[in-house]
Amino acid sequence: FEVPVAVNEPVKSYAPGSAERKEVSETYKKMYNSTVEVPLYINGIDIKTGDTGTMSPPHDHKHVLGTYHKAEKKHVEEAISTALEARKKWSVMPWEQRAAIFLRAAELLAGPYRAKINAATMLAQSKTIHQAEIDAACELIDFLRFNVQFMTEIYAEQPESTSDAWNRLEYRPLEGFIYAITPFNFTAIAANLPASAAMLGNVVVWKPSDSQIYSAKVIMDVFKEAGVPAGVINVVMGDPVMITDTLLASPDFSGIHFTGSTHVFKDIWQKIGTNIHNYKTYPRIVGETGGKDFIVAHKTSNPKQVATAIARGAFEFQGQKCSAASRCYISKSIWKDVEKFLKEDVASFKMGSPEDMSNFITAVIHEGSFDKLASYINQAKKDNDAEIIAGGNYDKSKGYFIEPTVIKTNNPKYATMCTELFGPVVTIYVFEDNAWEETLHLVDETSEYALTGAVFSEDRYALETAVRILENAAGNFYINDKPTGAVVGQQPFGGARASGTNDKAGSKLNLYRWLSPRMVKETF
Ligand code: GLU
Repeated sequence: FEVPVAVNEPVKSYAPGSAERKEVSETYKKMYNSTVEVPLYINGIDIKTGDTGTMSPPHDHKHVLGTYHKAEKKHVEEAISTALEARKKWSVMPWEQRAAIFLRAAELLAGPYRAKINAATMLAQSKTIHQAEIDAACELIDFLRFNVQFMTEIYAEQPESTSDAWNRLEYRPLEGFIYAITPFNFTAIAANLPASAAMLGNVVVWKPSDSQIYSAKVIMDVFKEAGVPAGVINVVMGDPVMITDTLLASPDFSGIHFTGSTHVFKDIWQKIGTNIHNYKTYPRIVGETGGKDFIVAHKTSNPKQVATAIARGAFEFQGQKCSAASRCYISKSIWKDVEKFLKEDVASFKMGSPEDMSNFITAVIHEGSFDKLASYINQAKKDNDAEIIAGGNYDKSKGYFIEPTVIKTNNPKYATMCTELFGPVVTIYVFEDNAWEETLHLVDETSEYALTGAVFSEDRYALETAVRILENAAGNFYINDKPTGAVVGQQPFGGARASGTNDKAGSKLNLYRWLSPRMVKETF
């Protein structure tokens, strides 16, 4: 059977006076003025443990949005046994039924749940309506629709048979359960990590980030309404070390689908290694971790285009993207123009609460992130080899607001050229016009991460040199465009080195990791 052809969900504009703006604004206000209680979700049942944490908007941190319940070890163990029980029916359910559930989830998000998922993302993860719409509505819907299509394409991939031997590849899910650990910065990624594995017949225990629990609750409401059966995706919140240790200690642990920090992923990898003799099968380890993403501009590039790419690549989504531009190398002869346009762009950005939909950026996710960013900004104010040329102010009295900040340095190994900050801070290094190759080698040598990167030039030789020298420095490489904003179905996303296992989210490459095919040869 053919599934409906996947198309990218159109991004709504939320223009002043539009019905969609009114709806999301009313939903936001309603959610702000009431409190929500988020239980664990195990075997299709809400579980209130009584041990709770609170949720607050990062842009208004004294306000309480509600509470969430934290798991004890016994709840995590229950999530495992319930998932394994659910697997008995789910793993043999015909794929059309699984596909229909996730296509229905996409339609629920595109329609009746759109305002709610956007408002939850705006409130608890501090995204503007435009950021929420791109992430929590469109990208999430795209992941569901495209993965259904990719799944059916994979199932159709079969070996040759002969008249006396029928060769069949059965695309079975993994034996055991998958553990999904998801980040705060993309609601779409949070939903996709459990959903993509589950779609292929796997069962999942999902631990969302503490800062993304509100939208995780909306996602589970959608999945439930769409028909995901009890036990197929179970949600546990609470102490991450206890949850991870409990799940990784199970002999039935069969894979991890992770997006988060590099050090947590490496710790998990190490724990999996320690437990390896205990598992029934080699676990699949799939992770997207950090980034320290670059923009390199040749002397032939267009200064306005470069400045816009820096401003948008670094500051959209408060710079809280693994893909955000955070270190830029600009050729000397174009720098003055780039600087002028960049300062104009940055000065035009309005910062404040997402409730005011004219704001372009909002607060960073929590106090820890705010303090880290503020300390790097302070240090740059003091250091002789750095100067702040735009922004540099911050204020956490009401929300965790960091002004979009541009640091310029004459030291290509300056701290903010190398350290992932995950916020609205970008650092510029200006190089001599005749040092193109040398600079590209420098970029590569300082790429501990390799997620995204962009190169600007009007000269094909210069571009070709960059493509070659930076071959391993970015899994998503952009020519004359900003290094952010990969679209599902158009630019599969992921990188190697310290950025992850490069299993390209939003593509068949990722889905193959959640399958354990059986080859059946039958002779006649
Ligand atoms: N896929 C997003 C982009 O291309 C980034 C996702 C992330 O931050 O992990 O900008």
